[in-house]
Amino acid sequence: MVHVVTQSCCNDAGCVTACPANAIHPTPDEPGFATAEMLYIDPSTCIDCGACIDECPVDAIFPETELNAKGERYLAINAAYYTDHPSAADTRGPAESREPSMAKTSPERTLRVAIVGAGPAGFYAAEELLRHPGVEVDMFDRSPTPYGLVRAGVAPDHPSTKGVERAFASIAASTSFRYLLNVEVGKHVMHADLTSRYGAVIYSSGASTDNRLGISGEDLAGSIPATDFVAWYNGHPDNADDTFDLSVHTAVVVGNGNVALDVARILVTDVEALAKTDIADHALAALAESRVREVQIVGRRGIAQAAYTNSEFLALSDLPGVDVVIDPSELTLDPSTASAFDDRTLDSTIMTKISLARAVAGRRPTARNKRVVFRYLLSPTEIRGANGVSALACVRNEFTGSPSGSVTSTADLSVVDCGLVMRAIGYRGRPIDCLPFDTSRSVVPNDQGRVLSEPAGETIAGVYVAGWIKRGASGGIGMNKRCGQETATSVLADFANDRLTMPTMSHHDLEELIAARGGTPVGSLGWLNIDRAERAAGARRGRRRVKIVRTDDLLRAAAR
Ligand code: SF4
Repeated sequence: MVHVVTQSCCNDAGCVTACPANAIHPTPDEPGFATAEMLYIDPSTCIDCGACIDECPVDAIFPETELNAKGERYLAINAAYYTDHPSAADTRGPAESREPSMAKTSPERTLRVAIVGAGPAGFYAAEELLRHPGVEVDMFDRSPTPYGLVRAGVAPDHPSTKGVERAFASIAASTSFRYLLNVEVGKHVMHADLTSRYGAVIYSSGASTDNRLGISGEDLAGSIPATDFVAWYNGHPDNADDTFDLSVHTAVVVGNGNVALDVARILVTDVEALAKTDIADHALAALAESRVREVQIVGRRGIAQAAYTNSEFLALSDLPGVDVVIDPSELTLDPSTASAFDDRTLDSTIMTKISLARAVAGRRPTARNKRVVFRYLLSPTEIRGANGVSALACVRNEFTGSPSGSVTSTADLSVVDCGLVMRAIGYRGRPIDCLPFDTSRSVVPNDQGRVLSEPAGETIAGVYVAGWIKRGASGGIGMNKRCGQETATSVLADFANDRLTMPTMSHHDLEELIAARGGTPVGSLGWLNIDRAERAAGARRGRRRVKIVRTDDLLRAAAR
């Protein structure tokens, strides 16, 4: 018997350290970690001790004997990884090298750190900082609730991924940690207010803008960023009053990353199943009236280059009452991928991706009344319609041969009749007031989190970044953990080496200052009250929580 990592793996990698047999890979020190879809347990090394289970924040690890039919597929997926990633050598190095560097803190020498952005990267930076006595963290966020995209981005039907909130809550429970939520930097508190009151300021404010397609018709009614739809169904206060016309038969999602699969899944999932989740009530009501019966997911390149993870593809193809449809003629491989697939030298994750798609393409459609159609090698050229979206025009792409997987458009035009187009082609960071910005990469220029005056420029002492605004909008919880830890390590090293200017003002007047500028900060107790109110409402209705979605209501719950 062995243990197996399953669908909800978030690449947190706490299990890697817990495993006495070095059976879980890739480790954060291995080159494949940054791009790995998930972590995998080596069935030939696992000694079945179970130590990894307690370390997993999202309950993704199970003993083989406890897997259900869907989970059993992950036995093969875990094993497949080790066909081209032998794990015999312990790549982790001596245990002490994995310990965080210790800063020269003491009760007399306190380091106060402001973290702006209460998402995963901010929390993992806070966790690393708070390992050190003498470090205090104040965490700011413009939303009255913490957890960033874990609350407002992770799909409601993936509750185990949201289990990482428990780890964040235990970080926030430290007596050296304070929330200042519902506080907008640049409005209620200025960058200079922070630098004069904290030894270090870390911005982990994410990447909140979506990429545009740059085609005509993109601003028609019914053409929307998938990010707005995601924030709407997840109850983000900024999107609580959004409306989407779901009276249409067909929706097209442009892009085939996990966000694209999330929105497609939410559009076709049975409402009774969604009603058991923490989806926002307004979204549940709108989806109950939805007439969307078909969602097409359009990807520019081929199946081997599809951006979604295999676990998300499986989650979609398992959906009850929904046909997942793939035209076998669209599963063309570029020549070098085809030959590597045939001689079994292709990367195991891509091998699995192709095999899963081929298996679905071979399925006979049922009489189900909802379907999700995966389209490959198509690029949108125009969104058509008079007063709103009525069709999406696309051209077929073909492989160029070199570099492998690259495509060029052909003259072969196809038109998809649809009433809704969602673009899901990635996020971009936005400039932060008073900080330099690299417009070519949509990030704040930095060196291991230390903000630079320009790319390859001078370090701006005491100011740091973490997460997507530091490295660009890619990578999930595991990458953000590593990224937040790296930034925290830079802060601690700068403090230890006296490279930080100590604050000239007390931070005790901040709440007064925020109030004078019209802000109502929500502290740790306020968030606890919101959390309790949402969970209590959820318990009454058999749901994980019922989200409060309007800022006024959140503030009332916080004050209760
Ligand atoms: Fe490692 Fe034990 Fe988990 Fe197997 S069960 S992966 S040996 S921690």
